[in-house]
Amino acid sequence: MTKLEIDPTNILPISLEDLYEEQRREIEQHLKATQEALLAGCFIKTRQGVVGSQLETNKKAMSIQCKVCMQTFMCTTSEVKCREHTEAKHPKTDVYQCFPHLKK
Ligand SMILES: [Zn+2]
Repeated sequence: MTKLEIDPTNILPISLEDLYEEQRREIEQHLKATQEALLAGCFIKTRQGVVGSQLETNKKAMSIQCKVCMQTFMCTTSEVKCREHTEAKHPKTDVYQCFPHLKK
């Protein structure tokens, strides 16, 4: 059945339980990855506790910036994506020059 063949009055609210195991796992994996990226990007856990309130976090949300072209990225942007940006836009530049925060 295609979407066009579905009678709008016949649509019921859908929940995870309605999906096939495989579809459900796909969504759960996606959610987990998103959650981990958000957590890792917005909060810092130290031995003293978790640093970073939601408000401060939002301000920092776009805090990753390429120092070369000043393009901003979500705080959830992974190191891989930063490297991809450097390779694509500034192939002759060191990735740490674009994104000094990656330096450990
Ligand atoms: Zn750049």
